[in-house]
Order: sequence, then C-alpha cells, then structure tokens
Amino acid sequence: MYDILIVGGGPAGYSAAINGRRRNKRVALVSKEPVSSRLRQAHRVDNYLGLAEISGAEMAEKFRQHAVREGVEIKEDEILNLWQEEEVFYGLGKNEQYKARSVILAIGIPQKATIEGEADFVGRGVSYCATCDGMFFRGQKVVFVSQLPEGEKEANFLADLCEKVFYLPQYKGDYDLDPRIEVISGKPKKIYGTERVTAFVTSEREYEVGGVFIERAGIPLDRLYPGLEMQGEAIKVTREMATNVPGIFAAGDCTGRPWQIAKAAGEGQVAALSAVDFLAGNK
Ligand SMILES: Cc1cc2nc3c(=O)[nH]c(=O)nc-3n(C[C@H](O)[C@H](O)[C@H](O)COP(=O)(O)OP(=O)(O)OC[C@H]3O[C@@H](n4cnc5c(N)ncnc54)[C@H](O)[C@@H]3O)c2cc1C
Repeated sequence: MYDILIVGGGPAGYSAAINGRRRNKRVALVSKEPVSSRLRQAHRVDNYLGLAEISGAEMAEKFRQHAVREGVEIKEDEILNLWQEEEVFYGLGKNEQYKARSVILAIGIPQKATIEGEADFVGRGVSYCATCDGMFFRGQKVVFVSQLPEGEKEANFLADLCEKVFYLPQYKGDYDLDPRIEVISGKPKKIYGTERVTAFVTSEREYEVGGVFIERAGIPLDRLYPGLEMQGEAIKVTREMATNVPGIFAAGDCTGRPWQIAKAAGEGQVAALSAVDFLAGNK
C-alpha cells in the first residue's frame, strides 16, 4: 500500500512525488509516458527560474532523475479507473492495480470525450485500452483513433486479433505499423450504432465497424473518477489543492490556467504537503 499515488508524470506529478518523498512517504508515480509528452514538446523553455535556455526534453530528464534519486517508485502505466473503498483508494492500471491512502491527480489538461457519440458508447464498442479489451473485438473491423505515436503499438496488437484495423492518426510522423493495418485520413466526427457501435464517421467518409479505440494523453475525467467536481474545464481545487473528494488532490494544468511548468511544479509541492497533512489526520 502506498501513502500517495500520483497519477501523471509531468512537472506537477514529479514535484509532488519528490516532496512526498522528502516527507518520508511511500510514493508511486504512475504515468502513461515516462515523462510528459507536453513537456518534451517544449523546444526551449526560458521562463523557469534558474534554468534558462533548457529544452523541455532535458528538463523532463532532470525531473525524472531527481525523482529516482529520491526513491520515488515510477511506474509506466495508465490509470483507467480510480475508486475508494473505506479509507483506501484503488487505481486500476493497464498493467497493475495500485492501492494508496491518498491520491494526487497531475494528469495535465483534462481530456474530454470529444467525438460525437463517444461517451454514449463507452463499454459498448468504444474502448481506451486495446490490451484490456482487444479480445472482445476478435474477428471484427475496428477503427483506432490516435493522438500519440504510442497508439501504434496498441494498434499492432489489434492487427493480430481483428479482421481489419483502420488507423486514424491525429499527429504527423512516420508510422511503425503492421502492414495489415490501413492508415486512413480525416478528422474523427461521429460514432454511432444501436445497442453497440456499428459505424464511425470521419470528415472524409464512413466506416462500418464494431469498435472504436481511442488513444489520447489521458482518459476522460468523468471515466477516471466519476463525481470529481469541475470548474469549467478544470478540476476544482482549494488553495491546498484539495478536490471535493477528501484524500484526492490535484495539481498542474488539470487545475486550470496558466498552463505553465513553474505553476505545475508549485502546485505539485502544495498538493504533496496537503496529502501529508491528510495522512496525519489533519483534514
Ligand atoms: C510546445 C509547448 C511548449 C511549451 N513551452 C512552455 C514554456 O516555455 N514554459 C512553460 O512554463 N510551459 C510551457 N509549456 C507548457 C508546459 O509543458 C505544461 O504547462 C506542463 O507540462 C504541465 O505540467 P503537468 O504536470 O500539469 O501536466 P503534463 O506535463 O501534461 O503531464 C501530465 C502527464 O500525465 C499523464 N497522464 C494523463 N492521464 C493519465 C492516466 N490516466 N494515467 C497515467 N498517466 C496519465 C500524461 O500522459 C502526461 O504524461 C509548453 C507546452 C507545449 C506543448
């Protein structure tokens, strides 16, 4: 059992993790990517105190190494679902299940179900995890919508199971895909069906499919922890970075603007100290 489960490996998550360890707590940092793709995309960061002219990728590596030195347990995994039973939080990852006495959400800009019909068909043909759900689509045609190159590995896994995989990348680059996969173009527009998904529509044409897989930087928040209170597009927090759920804190871009590294790191620290207080019973 961990004292603090941190979801997300960007500046907010790493800062929370380091500060949690400085208070001698057992900390797991679970992140879909070893370090945030958003931070890595920053070509040059000039506004972080004392580290001028550094690239986002270099900064990310420094954060990661610092956390390793402090004894943070870093897990490359995606949390699909969080829930609470009595005093314990459970996080279901693609690879493992995690147990902790408190949680810090540092998931970056919250993801939303953006495709028409997506939210309606979750669990009825819409999936965010090929590894978990792929077998349910054996022998069927599916579309795989991906915002990240990480989706290629998942789509390749589906190529072995499904009759046909259409891959719709929403990023530029070379694709490392199984030759059986057909790359398609356009913007995702609509998912529809009756009991289950029967079709997927792009800005260019319609595909008759039994499933739609979606790969984003994170999964929609209302799936991750139903009932988490929002303020507009951000998770609602107090100055202590507490959410409406006792024991769950949030930090970084997911709590709102400005979407900046220094703000994320500062909030990560506050969230960790508040989690430590919570664990001590000073709720
Ligand atoms: C091109 C570019 C340039 C930028 N330049 C600057 C700059 O010069 N200065 C500046 O201050 N800021 C800059 N930024 C913004 C900065 O990168 C962000 O504000 C910062 O990374 C936010 O940190 P975060 O920890 O809140 O979230 P993120 O860095 O977005 O990290 C969140 C992490 O959580 C992971 N995650 C999400 N959901 C889950 C889940 N369910 N399970 C596991 N992991 C999950 C994501 O995959 C991601 O790795 C720039 C951003 C971009 C894109």
